[in-house]
Amino acid sequence: MSDTGAQPATTPSRPIVLVVDDSPLVHRLLKARLRDEPVDLRHATSGSEALEFIYANDVATVLLDLGMPGMDGFEVLRDLGEKEATTHIPIIVLSGQQESQDKVMAFGLGAMDYITKPFDLSELRARMRSALRIHRLVRMLNERAQLDGLTGLWNRSHLDERMDQLISSAERSDRPFSVALFDLDHFKSINDNYGHPAGDAALQGAAELISGAVRNADVACRYGGEEFAVLMPETTPDKAQALCDRIRESIAERHWPSHPDRKITVSIGVCGSEGATGLAPEHWLAQADAALYRAKEGGRNRVVVTKVGKDGPKLAAAS
Ligand code: GH3
Ligand code: MG
Ligand code: MG
Repeated sequence: MSDTGAQPATTPSRPIVLVVDDSPLVHRLLKARLRDEPVDLRHATSGSEALEFIYANDVATVLLDLGMPGMDGFEVLRDLGEKEATTHIPIIVLSGQQESQDKVMAFGLGAMDYITKPFDLSELRARMRSALRIHRLVRMLNERAQLDGLTGLWNRSHLDERMDQLISSAERSDRPFSVALFDLDHFKSINDNYGHPAGDAALQGAAELISGAVRNADVACRYGGEEFAVLMPETTPDKAQALCDRIRESIAERHWPSHPDRKITVSIGVCGSEGATGLAPEHWLAQADAALYRAKEGGRNRVVVTKVGKDGPKLAAAS
């Protein structure tokens, strides 16, 4: 594959547009003519190279030839359309095949657009921009669907997705990983005494303190009603405990305008490991939940940590 390969995009802020064509001439032509477009143009010379690249990279639009030796463009369309992760990537077919049955088949397999060769470059540019616009919109909608409306944190469905990814990556690379579950203490009484809007404001305030304290690589989510979760890649249980303790303190110290005389506290359960454990994601959450339960039982406003490893869970000191 010419100037593609598995290396990360050199300009990650630019959307990646992948040109798939067995003709080097087409690649040269598009490289020259799309030089001024704000895209990261990549090239694949066969269907199988294209799929390999697309599954390993965040591709925003594909310009796809149909007639290629080996795996042809129709097969590429079929493959991308069948997989959840790639089914929304806009694909513009760039083909010498003019018959309407080819067009009908390509659209049937999920192509967004169809341009016949020889193509007009200004038209191609306009269509590519339109495909990139659609890609941005789809991405924005997907992201919104994974955000919690009240707090702006990620929601439970995003948590489940990221949990699977981060745990399998930590397990594969034998690296530290920790997850924390937060549950606000006696929260029902905030609603009961000061009203639901005060409860909502407290949830927003707690979410702000949590998201302000975590690192960029961490994933902060609203787990349920008055519960939050933070996924912490590359974080040992001791570091997770220190971070959670800082958050616990900042929540306990916060001043709440709608109930100045009533503080809010949080109980936190952490499950963390220094390296691979062999545990499935649901076991991590179950261990964090059990630690949270112990934090509640132990008097609330505290952090309880369970360290997990190859030889099973071990309870660490509470703080
Ligand atoms: P504990 O210390 O044992 O956790 O007690 P708690 O009162 O926090 O626990 P409980 O599970 O009994 O109550 C949780 C409360 O959280 C009840 C529910 O009304 C409130 N809650 C859940 N979601 C929201 C929300 O979106 N807004 C508001 N204002 N309250 C919420
Ligand atoms: Mg609760
Ligand atoms: Mg609670």
